[in-house]
Amino acid sequence: MSHAVAAAPPVKDEFSPFQAMADRFEAAADYLKLDKGVRDVLRTPDRELTVAIPIHMDSGELRVFTGYRVQHNFLRGPCKGGIRFAPDVNLDEVRALAAWMTWKCSIVGIPFGGGKGGVICDPKLLSQGELERITRRYTASIMDILGPDRDVPAPDVGTNEQTMAWIMDTYSMHVRRTSTAVVTGKPLNLGGSKGRREATGRGLMFAMREALKTMKDMPAQARIAVQGAGNVGGIGALLLHREGHKIVALSDERGAIHAPTGLDTPAVIAWLDEQARQPKEKRKFLDSYPGEHLTPKEKLLEIECDVLVPAAVENQITSRNVDRIKARLIVEGANGPTTAVADEVLDRRGIVVVPDILANAGGVTVSYFEWVQDRMGYFWTEEVVNARLEQTMVSSFAEVHSTAKKCGVSLRKAAYILALDRVATVYRQRGIFA
Ligand code: NAD
Repeated sequence: MSHAVAAAPPVKDEFSPFQAMADRFEAAADYLKLDKGVRDVLRTPDRELTVAIPIHMDSGELRVFTGYRVQHNFLRGPCKGGIRFAPDVNLDEVRALAAWMTWKCSIVGIPFGGGKGGVICDPKLLSQGELERITRRYTASIMDILGPDRDVPAPDVGTNEQTMAWIMDTYSMHVRRTSTAVVTGKPLNLGGSKGRREATGRGLMFAMREALKTMKDMPAQARIAVQGAGNVGGIGALLLHREGHKIVALSDERGAIHAPTGLDTPAVIAWLDEQARQPKEKRKFLDSYPGEHLTPKEKLLEIECDVLVPAAVENQITSRNVDRIKARLIVEGANGPTTAVADEVLDRRGIVVVPDILANAGGVTVSYFEWVQDRMGYFWTEEVVNARLEQTMVSSFAEVHSTAKKCGVSLRKAAYILALDRVATVYRQRGIFA
């Protein structure tokens, strides 16, 4: 059985993702002089669902997992946001990620609100069968609040196209018709969009390109350190390499490789792809890749480079290491990689940050394109998808950049100002149903 839970007050803590979101929210709300009531409406998640997910393990043991789905805000349209499978998933994190989705959709001007989901589990320790049963039971448990016009999940850390296919099938079996638009990030055969898999990395590449144009004395061939070698970091690194930049370091959850003159990025990514196809017990990580290693792997954040791309998890650039960051530009592939405390230091040091809610918005943008294509039953070429993504990222960057200049604030604060202002305007126009 599922049950709604009341929103707990956020914890005052540098490392609380919800606090990180709330601190930036308050700064932008102060700038916009939003009154307390409007702030409360915009900050408070609309709905939070916690579900128990009992499944039979391959061993025959019965185990209960916990899942969440948070719908932060649907003023601008159905909720949109990924589903994360990870051992450290918690409600504070899911709540923050859902709110970031609201601001992200608002910045890139797509008609969605924000949502996010998660299941506390370690996909690396689960078989395909166990993962499928968890996904299907989780979907059935949150079924009442899902739907193409209500809430449309997508992949995130620990989930992939196959997870989305199971969600789509489970939902479709319940509603007695094939409903492809209920999730995005699906396999192409099931109504996925061309270019979706690369969309976040490609969007990040466009955001970085636009940011570099606004900075003086940055080399045309930037030296880039990328933390995280998954969908965002791995694909992002490859696309940036193809643009002529040098990837000087790349890390995953086990190790970080380093080559000051530039890694052979296509070879590293091909090796990682090969590892991803191995059975779980045989899979290797970057700590086994030949060459120079950074130890501990977090050293990657502090190496000599022009651009740093944190594209793994939250809370990586913090009060503990911010003074040692050497990059002049940070482009946030991950959600919430920089704490609010570290942000202030970066700002003082003149380090430019392209914030997560702008830099990684390429994923949700092409998710929106996928949802549109599913509903039309008419599919676009990859060239069309990529061109529309580029247009969206370039114009969104320009809007955030000009707001930053006009208001005399950082790109992050400008992004929040734009996002909040748009959602607040829709709120005022819609009024309150009572
Ligand atoms: P993923 O699971 O495909 O990849 C995550 C990568 O990070 C893996 O290479 C993993 O080994 C590595 N990693 C994990 N912990 C690490 C650590 N402590 N140090 C270094 N590397 C570490 O996930 P993803 O989809 O690439 O997502 C990464 C981040 O980007 C998350 O914050 C996610 O919310 C965000 N994001 C993803 C998308 C998307 O479309 N996939 C869109 C927007 C934002």
